[in-house]
Amino acid sequence: MLYEDVEIENARKLFSGECKFIAAALNSNAVPDEECYEIAFAGRSNVGKSSLVNALTNRKTLARTSQTPGRTRQLIFFELQHNLTKLRLVDLPGYGYAKAPKKDIQSWTSLTLKYLKGRPSLRTICLLIDSRRGIGVYDELIMKELDKAAVSWIVILTKADKLTNEEIEKMKDSTSKNISKHPAAYPEIIVTSSLKSDGIPMLRTYLASLS
Ligand code: GDP
Repeated sequence: MLYEDVEIENARKLFSGECKFIAAALNSNAVPDEECYEIAFAGRSNVGKSSLVNALTNRKTLARTSQTPGRTRQLIFFELQHNLTKLRLVDLPGYGYAKAPKKDIQSWTSLTLKYLKGRPSLRTICLLIDSRRGIGVYDELIMKELDKAAVSWIVILTKADKLTNEEIEKMKDSTSKNISKHPAAYPEIIVTSSLKSDGIPMLRTYLASLS
């Protein structure tokens, strides 16, 4: 994944441009009509999803942070615009707080899968994995659902500042091996730290390239 300076700069401008809240949808009727391309973000509760969306858009309080895990089951839509490029970021409900993974995944899928399956403008789903924990049982279930929905997805490792470089490389290797089994997974993994902004320009540039 190599990018030119100009692509990195254009992506930075897109993500630091105007960003507005569009909708918080609790059912499919409340999902806004398609207008531009969309990128969705999924991950276990506490994986660092809100922090990542905030870091991407250079804002402190755009995305909710999960002070109360499980509280929200909504799909939240934000829209970014710079010049003629428009892009929506879709914050999917977190998962992984119920005691029974199957039940938890069912409730995640009822609204989310409907959205994922019927959305041609959805370019990719960023599946966030905590770099200290790696892929867990809940993530495996979600990956299967994403494969079934036939939408491409990419793994983003979060909180990389908590690991040494050697540990990060090990985690990248084991994660790559795991996702190679999944037909809809993008083979590269992006390592990020929202705290230190590591990997954030690269992720922005990748997402902007999908327009
Ligand atoms: P969410 O539930 O996935 O939206 O997760 P949050 O963004 O609310 O983050 C969960 C916790 O992880 C919070 O305490 C954050 O401060 C912390 N966190 C998020 N991103 C990072 C990161 O890049 N580095 C570190 N060290 N902590 C992070």
